Amino acid sequence: SSLAALIASLTRTVPDFPAPGVQFADLSPLFADGHGLRSVIAGLAEASPPAASVDLVAGIDSRGFLLGAGVALHLGTGMLVVRKQGKLPPPVHARSYALEYGEAVLEIPAEGIELAGRRVLIIDDVLATGGTLVAAKALLEEAGAEVVGAAVVLELAGLAGRAKLGTTPLAALITQ
Ligand code: IMP
Repeated sequence: SSLAALIASLTRTVPDFPAPGVQFADLSPLFADGHGLRSVIAGLAEASPPAASVDLVAGIDSRGFLLGAGVALHLGTGMLVVRKQGKLPPPVHARSYALEYGEAVLEIPAEGIELAGRRVLIIDDVLATGGTLVAAKALLEEAGAEVVGAAVVLELAGLAGRAKLGTTPLAALITQ
């Protein structure tokens, strides 16, 4: 599609970052382009479950914030930030997970935002091994939310991340 072509044309591949052997897809040029940014946010909103079935968008630190806020505006929902360790005040729900390169911890607030029974859509920029999305999903479910879907700009299909999400619908604007 023309959206896929636009994304591909504004994505830079960086070899051996952040670790040897990793091909890093840098979407910064896409986000810095007015048409690119607007198009991917509209595309994510369209590829997501219908607005009426989403109560809240959860964006993953940090490019998921930038995309998720735009999607939340499209859907008319609020926005939850799923943060890397140590940024949120206590109490938090926390989960560690394996990355394509290394290990990390994600956190969400355990107080102040009612998550029980809420239908949440998770947004991130790239799906690689799926560890990040699975950790975010587990955190949200631990807080009682129902994860109704996930959407990313780029799915790196070779790493089989999609299978880890189980029955949660995953939309990707481009698959490589
Ligand atoms: P995963 O947990 O292996 O699926 O990795 C996904 C997370 O790492 C996302 O939050 C991405 O932002 C980041 N990530 C992994 N690989 C890339 C890449 O090639 N480009 C940009 N971000 C990446």
